[in-house]
Formats: sequence, C-alpha cells, structure tokens
Amino acid sequence: MSEAIFKQAVSTILGNENIYFYWKGRIALYALLKTMKIKKGDEVILPGYTCVVVPNAIKYLGAKPIYIDVEKTTMNPSFNHFLRAITPKTKAIITQNTFGLSTQVDEIAEMAKEKNIYSIEDCTHGFGGTFKGKPNGSYCDAAFFSTQWNKPFSTGIGGFATVNNVELLTELKKVNQSLVQPTIKDSMILSALLFARDNILSPSNYWQLRSIYRWLSKNNLVIGSSEGKELNSVEMPKDYFKIMGNVQYKKGVKNISGIYQLLEKKKKNAELYTEFLSKEKKYHVEKELHKNHSFLKYPILIKKRDVFENRALNAKIDLGDWFCTPLYPVEKNFKLWDLNLSDIPVANILSKQIVNLPTDTEKPLKIIEFLKDNINEII
Ligand SMILES: *Cc1c(COP(=O)(O)O)cnc(C)c1O
Repeated sequence: MSEAIFKQAVSTILGNENIYFYWKGRIALYALLKTMKIKKGDEVILPGYTCVVVPNAIKYLGAKPIYIDVEKTTMNPSFNHFLRAITPKTKAIITQNTFGLSTQVDEIAEMAKEKNIYSIEDCTHGFGGTFKGKPNGSYCDAAFFSTQWNKPFSTGIGGFATVNNVELLTELKKVNQSLVQPTIKDSMILSALLFARDNILSPSNYWQLRSIYRWLSKNNLVIGSSEGKELNSVEMPKDYFKIMGNVQYKKGVKNISGIYQLLEKKKKNAELYTEFLSKEKKYHVEKELHKNHSFLKYPILIKKRDVFENRALNAKIDLGDWFCTPLYPVEKNFKLWDLNLSDIPVANILSKQIVNLPTDTEKPLKIIEFLKDNINEII
C-alpha cells in the first residue's frame, strides 16, 4: 500500500514509471551495474570525488573503477574528462550531480550512447532538481537516488533506481529476484531512529544529541550510513542486497510531500550566499550555474579546517564536512579502491579546503554574519 503510493509520488516528480526501491542508494547502483553485466576486466569511469560506496559497488562485481578529476567551478567532471578516460574496456560511466549540480549530462549521455557504453547518473544529491528543464535522472540509461538522512528527502536510510533505457528492464527484474528483505531488527532500529529524529530532536538539544549520535555511529552502535566493512575493505557485506522495507515506504510518502517548498528555500538561501561571497571575491557557485543547481549543500573553501570548524561549532553553525576526502568518508588506503591521488589533483585540493553551508536553514543571515566574522579564513 505505502509502496504504491510512494512509487506514484516519486514517479510524478521524475516523470518516469520505472522505479525500483532498495534499502540504500548504493544498492540501487549495484543492481544497475549488475543488470549492465559489469564484470571482472571491465572498467567503469566515475568522478574521483564521490562517496566510497560508489566504487565499492563496482569492486563488488570485480570491475575496475577509473577515477577522473573534476572542475573547480562545478565540482563535477567535464565532458572532456569522461571522453579522455574511455578505453576499449570501458563498459559504463557514472556522472554525478554533486551537491545538487548537474553539468553536461545530456552531452555525456549522448557520447556514451554513441560509443556503446552504458551511462548512469548518480542523483543522490539531486532529487527534485533539474538539468535544462528536465528532472535530474532523465538523460542517462539509468539513475540512482538516495533517501538517507541528509539527502534531498529522507526515509532514514534508503534509495531507488530509475531506468530510461527500457532494454534494461527485463534483466533488472531478474537481478532483483535475489533481493533479501530487511530483518525485523533492521526495521526496529530504523523505526527507533526515525522516531528519535522526529520527536526528541529539538533546537535546544540538537547540538548535544548531534555529538552523541556521531559517537554512536562511529562506534557502530546505530545504523549509520555505512558499516565498518564498507569503509575498510572492498568485500561485500553479508546481506548487502536488500530491498526497501515498509518503515521506509511510509516515511517516504510523508517526507516527499514538502520537496518543492524545501527546494525553493534552498535556492533562495544559496542566492544569498552567492551574493555575499561574490561581493567578497571568495569562491562561490557562479550565478549562471544556479539554474541547474538544487543546492543540497552549499560548498565553500576555507584555509584551515580545524580552526573554521571549531569557530562554527562555537557559533552553533551547522557546518558540513561532506567530501572532505576524495572518497568520502574514507581518509586513507585509497589504493584499496584503485585511486591514485595524482590522477585527481583538483578534487584532491578541493577535498582539503571544502566545508558546506546548510541550505535548509531558516536563518541564512546568521550564517552570513558568521562568514563575515571569519572572512579571512575563507578562500
Ligand atoms: C549518499 C551518497 C551515495 C550513497 O547513498 P546511500 O543511500 O547512502 O547508499 C552515493 N553517492 C553519493 C555521491 C552520495 O553522496
């Protein structure tokens, strides 16, 4: 029941009927790669500025992730980055709408098609946003989305795949036959976390609870986004290939309803940030990029991370550290994922300088005040 309603809501926003739900977004990606018959010896091109769970899905199938660099202005690879990395072994490419920004995805998808290579759009940051007037996820053979805590709308954890190339559908349905159901324990823990977030979290205890939650998930005591094995190995965790459960469908129905209002607020706040930062001649999202940006977060660059983060904490500014490493949140042993930092010089520097401003805030001026007070720390 909830599943059908949720599917209808997603389908209406994306203009696509071919939607398949999973326990997490990364599992949707894995299902797509498997459907595309990605296997040992194949190469899959992806941004060298992403979440580690993306190359994990490639490695689980025995294929090789080929990382490409990003442009400083967009934090995405350009068309030419993709083009240069293609070899006879390339089977698929993954584009990404980093922080909600799509770039050149139409041309990239077209080029892949001409070369008989599959294309996938990582829309985990971009649900509800558009590229040249079409919903994100419209251009490639397939796309995947995340509904994890901090993504455009949340089911606690969760995700889904959408398919544009209908030739993939038969095989995807076959692949999905081996999905397992969430356990009762999975569902209970997730329900408890969702309840806590909706009923216990308030502005007055937010900062205290935030540090407790971070401590718990670091120590693997709650369902964080990733389990230890995903962050220190390239072996698939047991029961990884899991479908979405009822708790998530219900939450999805509820939370998707406010998406357009939320997007509008994010865009407005981002405009304020850009106006301030451009006047101060600091790094900012250029005005002409705003149209295709859904601003899940607003990236800025800073000189010294620890100094800036401490000041933000003291000022109670909810600063994010998303993508503070090229394979977020992994900080070392990049070789395990076949990443050479020398292949991604721009992403490597960005990862050292980046912090992200919240875009869903009711108090953008408080944040701009904070930026003003710390203007010398900003690049
Ligand atoms: C969050 C994220 C994912 C994975 O989504 P999950 O639902 O947590 O599996 C993949 N790619 C990027 C860029 C992300 O930020």
